[in-house]
Amino acid sequence: MPSRSSLWNKDGSAKGDAPRWASLRANMREAFPTYYYTTGSDPFADMVGEAIGYLNKLKPVGTAESDPSSTPGYLIGDQIIGEPGNISSPDYSGVTGVKLGDEMLPVKDVLEQAAQLFIGMPAWNHPLVMPNVIPQANTAAIITAMMTNVFSPNIIEGEYAWDVERTEMETSAILADLIGWDPNVAGGLFTFGGSGCYFYGIKYALTNCLGDKSRCTGIRTDAKILMSQQGHYCKQNSSDWTGLGMNNYVEIDTDENNAMDMEHLTEVVTNLKEAKVPIAAIVCTMGTTDAFALDPIEEVRELVDRLYPLSEYPDGAGRPLIYADAVIGWSWLTFKGYDFDANTLGFADDVKQEIQANYNAISKMVHADAIGCDFHKTGWSTYNCSVVMVKKLNHFQELMSRPGSAYLQARTCYNPGLYTLEVSRTGAYSMAAWATLKFMGAEGFRSILGGILEIQHYFRDEAIAKETTAVCVNDSDHGFVTLFRVYKKGVDAVTQYQRELTDPAAKAELEANNKLQEDIADLLWQWYRFPQEKPGDDYAPYISYTSGFRPTDYEDENIEPGFIYAVKSYPMNVNVTYEVMDDLLRLVLQARDAIEAGTVPDARDDAGNCPVPYSKFKDIRPVECGSNATEEASATSDNLLSGIGRQSKKGLKRLKKRRRKK
Ligand SMILES: *Cc1c(COP(=O)(O)O)cnc(C)c1O
Repeated sequence: MPSRSSLWNKDGSAKGDAPRWASLRANMREAFPTYYYTTGSDPFADMVGEAIGYLNKLKPVGTAESDPSSTPGYLIGDQIIGEPGNISSPDYSGVTGVKLGDEMLPVKDVLEQAAQLFIGMPAWNHPLVMPNVIPQANTAAIITAMMTNVFSPNIIEGEYAWDVERTEMETSAILADLIGWDPNVAGGLFTFGGSGCYFYGIKYALTNCLGDKSRCTGIRTDAKILMSQQGHYCKQNSSDWTGLGMNNYVEIDTDENNAMDMEHLTEVVTNLKEAKVPIAAIVCTMGTTDAFALDPIEEVRELVDRLYPLSEYPDGAGRPLIYADAVIGWSWLTFKGYDFDANTLGFADDVKQEIQANYNAISKMVHADAIGCDFHKTGWSTYNCSVVMVKKLNHFQELMSRPGSAYLQARTCYNPGLYTLEVSRTGAYSMAAWATLKFMGAEGFRSILGGILEIQHYFRDEAIAKETTAVCVNDSDHGFVTLFRVYKKGVDAVTQYQRELTDPAAKAELEANNKLQEDIADLLWQWYRFPQEKPGDDYAPYISYTSGFRPTDYEDENIEPGFIYAVKSYPMNVNVTYEVMDDLLRLVLQARDAIEAGTVPDARDDAGNCPVPYSKFKDIRPVECGSNATEEASATSDNLLSGIGRQSKKGLKRLKKRRRKK
């Protein structure tokens, strides 16, 4: 047995008589980046290069640039190219039988295996992949996030992240400035997604409302949080996981623009105040996921200031906070200062007007107390990458700080770990956002956002408008999504849709045509995964559909409304061109034709192959909460509508009254 001090040679290799653990440890060192400068070849850089090589092999070879549908919209391996290229479904077979291997595996082998796991995954940068708000990540974000993984900055405190902390601080300052807040007062914290931001917002609001002692006693008061019925479903996660309880969120009806109905909100807030029920937060959604509905946050601020004047609530305690869920909408802020008259970026007039409208609505977020922004949505950054901004950082710190721990010393001046939900926080979040802001600048954001609207206008006003069997159903939305319905050959889509929307006698037709939209989306999904089943030698797009874009608009409110289904395209991706949108419509019509001709392949039952315990989930019933929504607020469970929400009877009456007044 060699002495403990002499297991390794000077070059790091193990001595011949060293025990096996010591020689494995010596080999292992090669699998970590070195901490010292080397002049020779850098095994880490080589390995990264190699790994990127494996990833590149997953990219389908084709002429995508000129002809996007010549390649599939998913990652594919060399080994599959040449074969029909079915991806079928994800493969989860055997996962529960996996055990820790006995021996070490060369890193190279691990990387190769890892790369295989991407096969079949949607390629978010493929032009014909547009099912949802999932943009591809930009190179600056990807590589800087990777850089953080090399050195492990932990933005829990300055001591552990050094100047990487600047990325959180500088990003917060940039956003505060765009919002119109004082960067010397405001601050931001990176966290796990838009739902994390929401969670922070609700916790902040609850503590503000119920007092910081509520952090000791727990939430013992049924404070309410209010949001429009089209607000994101993470209202459930937040009310649930904060301990507030899902019975305590109250949904407010939406108006004809899908925005929170101020009349209804005023009624609900007034009633709650009279009943002495505290309201912790009013959530304004600044851009819903599909319809891009924007709540009237300025009016919400006026309402709060009127009913809860600062004179009566001098320290703000007990007043509702306004949280803006701007994870989709925030990046329109980059139009701050754009000279719309000079319009140096050259947007078309109609697009320019929509941009201006979006910017004007979003700029009202200055009235919020806290705002959630997703860089992994409308920031083209890596997953996940979100920041919750607070207007008064010191106020947040006062309410949320903890004494800290014995094993962490506050040796530097920045210690967010004393008031964040997380303990360790990766520097990858803030680094990727910061890098994206540097890379894009205002012009980059403006071009990419305005460009989506340009392409979407082409799709709506030219491609769809020229196709008599198709109709866009969300013409008035200024967001990223186009929802459209396709009818059988010979049907005039505009007339037919109008009938389905307004005439209860057309309900059977509505339902049949809803089925058609669903069938088209299902067939495209099947063709996408089984290209050899699709006629022609091109590939299907990956899009989606909504089964609840909006209810019908029947005059007689006693007639149960129907729901409008629509095919959905969310073209976030910078590789989308006008030609791609033409292609998309052509392929959708091809699916319609196949359905009409009855030449549809057998539907496949292939949702993946989950072993127990995963497969059992489908039998598990979610908790059912008694609805504590106000009587006139709508039911909460089944109305995750993407567009105009399911209205309560009272809400429908209000809508009709306003419409008559016009
Ligand atoms: C996506 C989304 C969320 C949730 O954000 P994640 O980043 O997915 O956690 C919340 N609100 C809105 C409006 C969203 O679109």
